[in-house]
Amino acid sequence: MKARVDATDTRTSEIVSVNPATLEELGRFPVDSPSKVSAAVARARAAQPQWGALSFRNRARYILKVRRALYERQNEIINIISDETGKPAFEALSTELFPVADLMTHFATKSEKILRDERFTLAVFRNKRSAISYEPLGVVGIISPWNFPFAIPTGEVVMALMAGNAVVLKPSELTPLVGDAIKRLFAGAGFPEGVFEVVQGDGSTGAALVDSAVDKIFFTGSVRTGKRIAEAAAKRLLPVVLELGGKDPMIVCEDAPFERTVKGAVWGAFANCGQVCASVERLYVVEPIAGKFISSVVDEVKKLRQGPPSGCTTDIGPLINENQLNTVTDHVADAVARGARVLTGGRRRDDLEGYFFEPTVLVDVNSSMKVMTEETFGPVLPIMVVKDEEEAIREANNSRFGLLASVWTKDNERGRRIARRIDAGTVVVNDALYTHGAAQTPWFGVKESGLGVTHGTAGLHEFVRMKHVNWDLMPLKSDWWWFPYTDAWYGRFKTLMKVLYRWGLRKFV
Ligand code: NAD
Repeated sequence: MKARVDATDTRTSEIVSVNPATLEELGRFPVDSPSKVSAAVARARAAQPQWGALSFRNRARYILKVRRALYERQNEIINIISDETGKPAFEALSTELFPVADLMTHFATKSEKILRDERFTLAVFRNKRSAISYEPLGVVGIISPWNFPFAIPTGEVVMALMAGNAVVLKPSELTPLVGDAIKRLFAGAGFPEGVFEVVQGDGSTGAALVDSAVDKIFFTGSVRTGKRIAEAAAKRLLPVVLELGGKDPMIVCEDAPFERTVKGAVWGAFANCGQVCASVERLYVVEPIAGKFISSVVDEVKKLRQGPPSGCTTDIGPLINENQLNTVTDHVADAVARGARVLTGGRRRDDLEGYFFEPTVLVDVNSSMKVMTEETFGPVLPIMVVKDEEEAIREANNSRFGLLASVWTKDNERGRRIARRIDAGTVVVNDALYTHGAAQTPWFGVKESGLGVTHGTAGLHEFVRMKHVNWDLMPLKSDWWWFPYTDAWYGRFKTLMKVLYRWGLRKFV
């Protein structure tokens, strides 16, 4: 058995990987200094032109080799994820490896089509033609969190590489072993040296990557760090994509498919021990079905099997560290102090070694409580009873976050109508949080949940620079808006204005 460690002891020149279910040390990595980060970026810079010059088909060959290795080494990677995060092997497979395999297939086969050149003749300037092409950015820096330590960075690395960029990845300091596994997985596919670099370390290494000579930063993590990165990047107008936190609402209508909604609420709130940016963090249920719904949810929550991950004998693991445990404890205590009632759970699991907190359901909650306003990121489901759909929508939008929301009703038309009124990047009808796992769909937040997009067509476009080239079909001696300005051409412009005005009227009125 390995030594038990103090997991808060990570801000040294080493980062310590700890199993949050057992508190055993799993490994140590040196914190890469700014000069090491710069050297990695320089290697990536040197390698990118050749990589960017490869055809999509050739770049896809490398990605599909990684996909094969992922398939062959799936058990090893599942175990590393499960040990370092405490999540059940089932979730490591279903929410980390499986979506990445799908994403690799999607972008290896579709990137060429998504990024192909477009050509068009201009409507007014008929003598002119334009072409839009999409070029790699150069070197992109990816900074990732611990809650999906494999799926989030690997997906972005694949998209960046397929778009022709070289990549420097900085994994979370809480999951360096998964970061190292990603590095080894790609190394096995024989990428040219420098095309994919991994630097290890804490926030200081991430900050060094932001300050380095990268062309764009893709950051996933907390709002607090996202704002710090945006500030640092603004100093040199470095573009950033920020995928940040959430406080995702679930709206349950009176015509919700009952059993599915109960099970969906429990999975949406407690998968990954509630440590998902898109976890159900607030549930609004309408009065007529509230009593029956809440008691059914509590019954389901009581069935959850919590403990250190071991095959498929557990459903819910520990929180990632003491900080996270303290936040969850604080949010529950604050809610109870302000009048909330705990229907099940509510305490730290003192009988277990790691950072376990009981799956918890709260009622009589209101928007003065932290548990309804701040990201809890733990196994807590606060349920508020609302009069009707209107109140549910109002409460759902009463948040500084806007990542994902869900609406539960048997009537898809009604679900889509409510969805349109909710301030969130994604709204799912009759499901929870899963679309990050679907490579084809865009993932993004509004309000404080972020800037920019990942996944989907729009996500791939974040990894390229648009190039517009415009040329004459038949060069004239001079264009009519050039010097010298004359009364004759002024008059013709006036006539053209009239034509445009009438044309516009014909088309739209
Ligand atoms: P975090 O912000 O603490 O850390 C994220 C990463 O940023 C880590 O790699 C960290 O080392 C690095 N970092 C820290 N300070 C930095 C700095 N000054 N400059 C550059 N990098 C720095 O977040 P976390 O605790 O790892 O992740 C949890 C958060 O991530 C939650 O808020 C969750 O909602 C959010 N999240 C969002 C999404 C999404 O898609 N929107 C997905 C997963 C997680």
